[in-house]
Amino acid sequence: MRKFGMRTLVGWLWAIEDRMTLRMQIGAGAALLSILMVGALTAGAAYISSHQVSGLLDARLAEVARGTSERLDRYMFTRQRELRLFAGLDQNGEMWTSDPSRIRKELENLKYGFEDFAWIGLADTDGKVVAATGRQLEGVSVATQPWFKNGLKGIAVEDMHEAALLAPLLDRRHDDDLYRFVDIAMPIKLFGQTIGVLGAYLNWDWPKEMSQSVSGVRDDEVGETDIWILGKDGIILLGPSIGRTYYSDEKLAAMRAAKSGTFVDRQTTVPVLTAFSTTIGHRDFGGLGWIVVARRPADVALAAAAQTAWWIAEIGLAIGLFGIAGALMLASRIARPIQSMTSEADLIGRDPKTTMLPRQRGSVEATQMTRSLRSLLRRVGFAEERTREAELRASDTARQFNDDIEELRKLAATDPLTNLMNRRAFLDAANDAMDYYKRYRRGLSALMIDIDHFKKINDTHGHAAGDEVIKRVAQLIGECIRSTDKVARLGGEEFIVLLREADLDSSNFLAERIRRAVADGTATYRDAAIVATVSVGVTIVAENDRDVQDLIERADQALYLAKNNGRNCVRQMLVHKEAAANVA
Ligand code: GH3
Ligand code: MG
Ligand code: MG
Repeated sequence: MRKFGMRTLVGWLWAIEDRMTLRMQIGAGAALLSILMVGALTAGAAYISSHQVSGLLDARLAEVARGTSERLDRYMFTRQRELRLFAGLDQNGEMWTSDPSRIRKELENLKYGFEDFAWIGLADTDGKVVAATGRQLEGVSVATQPWFKNGLKGIAVEDMHEAALLAPLLDRRHDDDLYRFVDIAMPIKLFGQTIGVLGAYLNWDWPKEMSQSVSGVRDDEVGETDIWILGKDGIILLGPSIGRTYYSDEKLAAMRAAKSGTFVDRQTTVPVLTAFSTTIGHRDFGGLGWIVVARRPADVALAAAAQTAWWIAEIGLAIGLFGIAGALMLASRIARPIQSMTSEADLIGRDPKTTMLPRQRGSVEATQMTRSLRSLLRRVGFAEERTREAELRASDTARQFNDDIEELRKLAATDPLTNLMNRRAFLDAANDAMDYYKRYRRGLSALMIDIDHFKKINDTHGHAAGDEVIKRVAQLIGECIRSTDKVARLGGEEFIVLLREADLDSSNFLAERIRRAVADGTATYRDAAIVATVSVGVTIVAENDRDVQDLIERADQALYLAKNNGRNCVRQMLVHKEAAANVA
């Protein structure tokens, strides 16, 4: 299925390839490449910078959490030490055994020095408050208070709790919040004997202030960083919803086991980068097992990384656009010689002025291409010329052949001595004339001419002189007839004339003219003037003539009559002797 899809895609690309200009193809390729590059670059940059930034942030948050937890521990240690020092000042019991007003005064001095102390008091071993700052809770039993119970045994630090006994005695807080305290208590011993418990309530406001001024955290970071303090059991002591738990028991156990670290809290809609650090106490302060959590929403944290990615995307996009523009320019450069060659090549054979492609420049390929095409055109030109020459030669030869054939045909049809038609040519013409007569019934007649006593001329003047006489007679006959009449030498000193559109009278007339012309004319041979005469037989075509031979034979019979009649005369024969006989 997938393979088919690929093949269709490739086929589709091939199909559109031919319809796309080089410019479009290179532009599209560059655009695709730019998109891929910018995409990869942006994704890579976003990945790397988010990793770097989140790593840095993790480190910063971890630092904040650790710093806060250390300060908590140190603070608690200091408060505890102050109380311990105070408790140990009176080594000989002078103060502790004096009247409550003096003890109260000392306690108030101590409280005055450290404003975080909300209350300091001394309870006797039964749990009754003997003296306290501001006389608060004096005479009240604190026997059930954990700090008292634990304080009897040794130094005790009680985790944050809401003020139970003291609250009614205190003014309302300006922020309307509840009073929350951490208690520190310790036994007062005199010569190894416990005589009471010194207890102090520490206002819970100080961790809040501390967390807001954690050392080494810049304002811009703190602005988005929340610091929570979780109690031993995971209850939120400082944070958005005090007194509730937020992290699961497993998570808390894991945090306690790791002591410090970072993780991403995904319970919220926006993931929160979280660093934690457990308090471990300081010197002889064992710590309360608090966990300090520094939280920072990931979107804020990674905004810088996103910003970096955006910058890179924008720069990449700009470079990509430049790249596309450059590719398009390059494509134009590549395509220009091809386009101009195409338009020039289109003119060849159409525009007589264009016979050669101009040289193209711009790249080795372009110059090579024009060189090859120019060479091709030259070769085509040579070949064309050669073909033309060959054609000319061939037509020359053909013309020559035609002339020769014409010459031969003329020779074949001509009597060489007299230049008149010979017998064969005459018969062709006579047959045509006969056909014409048969179709249109137009007049046709024949004169048969023979030189009288020619043997004697030969004998007297020689054969050559005889030839001369034959030529002269032929010439005289030719001068007498019309151009439409045909005259031929039938052989020896015999001639025949075929007359078209001629009746008997005009034929006789012509025959007489010929006879007289010959009789009046002379042939000259070697200064000797030779006189000759001819006898002429005349006939005209008859309806029952089968062919021209009948006509010629009848003319011959007429000639025979003329010879018999003393020669140098004209005789006619109108009907065939046999036919006449038949008629008779
Ligand atoms: P007639 O009046 O009866 O015609 O007498 P004739 O001497 O002319 O007799 P005929 O026509 O029979 O003789 C023709 C002679 O012409 C025979 C031949 O020797 C001669 N002759 C034929 N052809 C040629 C030729 O070409 N040249 C020459 N010089 N003589 C030829
Ligand atoms: Mg003869
Ligand atoms: Mg003769």
